[in-house]
Amino acid sequence: MYKIVYKKLLCSTRRAQQEENEIFSARYKNRKKEFYMEFRDLKQQYQLHKKQIDDAIQRVLTNTNFIQGSEVSHLEEVLAEYVGVKHCITCANGTDALQLALMTWNIGVGDAVFVPDFTFFSSGEVVTLVGATPIFVDIDEDTYNISPQSLEQAIQYVLEQTNLKPRVIIAVDLFGQPAEYEQIKKIAEKYHLLILEDGAQGFGGRIGTKKACSFGDISTTSFFPAKPLGCYGDGGALFTENDEWAELLRSYRVHGKGVDKYDNVRIGMNSRLDTIQAAVLLEKIKFFDWEVKKCNQVAEEYNKGLQGVVKAPVVKKGFVSSWAQYTVCFQNNKEREQVIKLLKEQNIPSAVYYRKPMHMQEAFRKYQYKGLEYKVTEKVCECCLSLPMHPYLNINVIKYIIAGVRKSLDIKTD
Ligand SMILES: *Cc1c(COP(=O)(O)O)cnc(C)c1O
Repeated sequence: MYKIVYKKLLCSTRRAQQEENEIFSARYKNRKKEFYMEFRDLKQQYQLHKKQIDDAIQRVLTNTNFIQGSEVSHLEEVLAEYVGVKHCITCANGTDALQLALMTWNIGVGDAVFVPDFTFFSSGEVVTLVGATPIFVDIDEDTYNISPQSLEQAIQYVLEQTNLKPRVIIAVDLFGQPAEYEQIKKIAEKYHLLILEDGAQGFGGRIGTKKACSFGDISTTSFFPAKPLGCYGDGGALFTENDEWAELLRSYRVHGKGVDKYDNVRIGMNSRLDTIQAAVLLEKIKFFDWEVKKCNQVAEEYNKGLQGVVKAPVVKKGFVSSWAQYTVCFQNNKEREQVIKLLKEQNIPSAVYYRKPMHMQEAFRKYQYKGLEYKVTEKVCECCLSLPMHPYLNINVIKYIIAGVRKSLDIKTD
């Protein structure tokens, strides 16, 4: 028994890819193999684009403009054009991006901010960081995004049962699929609320031709390495059409600067994107659309093999996901845990996003509201599982994973 070093499986030419497929098939058939599979393969991506990325980083090292170098403003132009929004303001990470937006809108004590109950911790954390109150909202059972019906119920609840002032809806583009902005916008208008699009997982997704990070009054994303568009450390960005907010965001991200960072007109943060990270992103954005397309092909293969076996992800008509995660649901927690264990025995990595609803996190204990229900989130947290998803998953590996899931459920694959 031996390990296939995954690096060896990597290839930049079609012939090598073919060879790799043959090697994999042979190993797959004799079923004695032991190999290493990445959940999201950043190594392969880097190997394929090593020269351009190394050169880009080297240029920054040579110029030594590590903070706010020309790559940063260049990247902001490129990203604004990509998303189709007037302003892009980069910052240190996706969490700061959310906080900067709330600071710009002067959200604070006494304000209610609506957040989906099923998301990464940041989406709610930032609300409390500015002193406001997060109101968690149940999700849609198909898309796992915030449920417009539950959202309206939660707003009514806050208006009738609390002294809080509803101010902002944080809509998360979970797992890569944009939230239902048409309905969310109607609700926002009805109750005079601002929309903050948390596109940390959604960058590269679309509704029709309109890109993710263009749906909020302010929208944010994260360049954490495993996100759809990742850099080589932490990074984030904000997007908006509004000139005044854009200027405020640029001030808040550098110590509330006025004319310069030694003229401080408000309390801000130190939240800049490093020049090296901007240089990496300027290279990675060049093949990003190709990667999103590949992820959609991977998702299609998964759907074909898993339809009827598990609850496969649902992408709404006219919506395009950037597939930050490919997340399926099993019958219940017991079945899920069994599958995780059996997949692991077959060297297939998997991950649970997310195990705990936001309203059940210890950190949010004091924000629990008796009048609100989270039935869908509670159910999904019990039975969801994310499978390996990235643009470099080859067809044989996808088939191996599908067979692995089926086998774990005692379903035959022919
Ligand atoms: C990753 C993530 C964030 C935070 O981004 P960081 O860059 O890690 O700070 C916020 N919201 C969601 C939904 C995320 O997935």
